[in-house]
Amino acid sequence: AATAPLLELDNLHVGYGKTAALHGVSLRVQPGETVALIGANGAGKSTTLRAISGLLKPTRGSIRFNGRDIGGMAPDRIVGLGIAQSPEERHVWPSMTVYENLVLGAYLCRSQATVQQRVAKVYERFPRLKERHQQLAGTLSGGEQQMLAIGRALMSEPVLLLLDEPSLGLSPKMADEVFDVVREISRQGVTVLLVEQNVHNALTAASRAYVFETGRVVAERESAGLLGDPELLTAYLGG
Ligand code: ATP
Repeated sequence: AATAPLLELDNLHVGYGKTAALHGVSLRVQPGETVALIGANGAGKSTTLRAISGLLKPTRGSIRFNGRDIGGMAPDRIVGLGIAQSPEERHVWPSMTVYENLVLGAYLCRSQATVQQRVAKVYERFPRLKERHQQLAGTLSGGEQQMLAIGRALMSEPVLLLLDEPSLGLSPKMADEVFDVVREISRQGVTVLLVEQNVHNALTAASRAYVFETGRVVAERESAGLLGDPELLTAYLGG
């Protein structure tokens, strides 16, 4: 029998006030997969991630994680169940150190020893953060801040990591580094759901993608198929 999906959205409707943003999104993510959400600006990709992490409440439909309905649950309970999000605008605390930012990512963990173990693990993955552990986050480069935001999300030891535009505002070289890290995290068994404007980066990190258009999923494809068919991609993404 097929493995049960780790995450399953069924007919999800979400809005901002009275304005509907998602009109019945359905998608699934299997344990261990990396899946990308692609599509034009405003298509509803970030809104989908915000609903999964509990920042927005669905008006209809369901979000199931490990078989449990988490739609509308409080964000900290959702983190406690194993979902962490690295938000679009990075949102590191600029006047706190790298180390302090990381520790905040483990706010649900009561054991100091465990928190320190997790910090050590993040430093192993991001040597540049280790070198800068006493530096104020606001003084890091854009790429380093992105690494810090991802590292902080990993501090809750998530089963599912939600990444919103990890390469936004980065140089191509830094973006490549961030995507190397994403692939590494995925190799270590973390399931990843990724929103990314840079479709090439998204599709080389993810095995599958859902294409969004005006609050709906209009296609679901293997990444290899999309990468090999530029015309199809242009048709979906408008060039
Ligand atoms: P982008 O890459 O631009 O973030 P997206 O596909 O992630 O695109 P969303 O940000 O999810 O799209 O936006 C979906 C719809 O919801 C858009 O019509 C957008 O204008 C609207 N929207 C997004 N954020 C808000 C907000 N905070 N308040 C009101 N409307 C919003």
